[in-house]
Amino acid sequence: MQHLISMDDLTISQINDILDDANRFKKAKTNPALLRGKLLFTLFFENSTRTRSSFEVAAKKLGASVIHLDPSKSSTSKGESVEDTFANICAMDPDGVIIRHSSNDIPRILADMQTTPVLNAGAGNYAHPTQALLDLFTIKEHFGDTSGKRVAIVGDIANSRVANSIMALFPRFGIELTLVAPDGFMPTEDKFKKVDNLAEIIDSIDVIISLRAQLERHEKPVFDDYEEYASHYCITNEVIGNRDVVLMHPGPVMRNIDISDEMLSDKRSKVLTQVTNGVFVRMAILKLLLLDS
Ligand code: ASP
Repeated sequence: MQHLISMDDLTISQINDILDDANRFKKAKTNPALLRGKLLFTLFFENSTRTRSSFEVAAKKLGASVIHLDPSKSSTSKGESVEDTFANICAMDPDGVIIRHSSNDIPRILADMQTTPVLNAGAGNYAHPTQALLDLFTIKEHFGDTSGKRVAIVGDIANSRVANSIMALFPRFGIELTLVAPDGFMPTEDKFKKVDNLAEIIDSIDVIISLRAQLERHEKPVFDDYEEYASHYCITNEVIGNRDVVLMHPGPVMRNIDISDEMLSDKRSKVLTQVTNGVFVRMAILKLLLLDS
């Protein structure tokens, strides 16, 4: 049974299939009802704007049905364990469960029960594989090839599940990563080049991925003043100038802290293209998990 909990769950060849399928889905005017008769549950223990609706649109475009379980109104709020809630959902014979949870481990624990394919839609600060895949797709779509491209990740890398999945995925596709963050936001791992100042590397990068400060995961405030943080790390026209750089962000964007208003509407910003591409990439992921295995 195929799950998608972290990037390790997919081989390079499966990822290439996902990118190719996503490309086909994006080009097709109509999509075959590949998943007609399939039933998916979403179980989101954390807020979501893009990911949950993107999965729903993707599933519906392929003809599947989706049931959203609202954990705040489900029995987990009456003391039922997540494992028991999941087992009860599985007793209704779904074809997959899409889960988001503040715990790093819950999606893997549920996948290990081997009752239905589990898709991680964001786990703590551990992994958000579908976001990393749609980011890879967006870069490949823009440049044609990912090999040798230089990507700077800017912001709260230490607490970002998106950054973790990008760091696990992009080097497999020949992308060179540089981490740009102040001390409190810099992860401890040392596989990648690290700088505390974007200006130092701005002339040698092709893509900037800006990240939101993950305030919900900070035990105590990392910075007293986010305006001060923004004065160093906000992506503005001043920082980018007229350079040929692609600007990305997984959302939600904190305007004028992560990226300036002006840069968000600049044609180099791919923030909404990422959202558009997310649907096609998730269609391809659903196809792989529900049909190909
Ligand atoms: N939407 C992404 C996530 O769920 C990024 C973020 O929240 O900043 O991790």
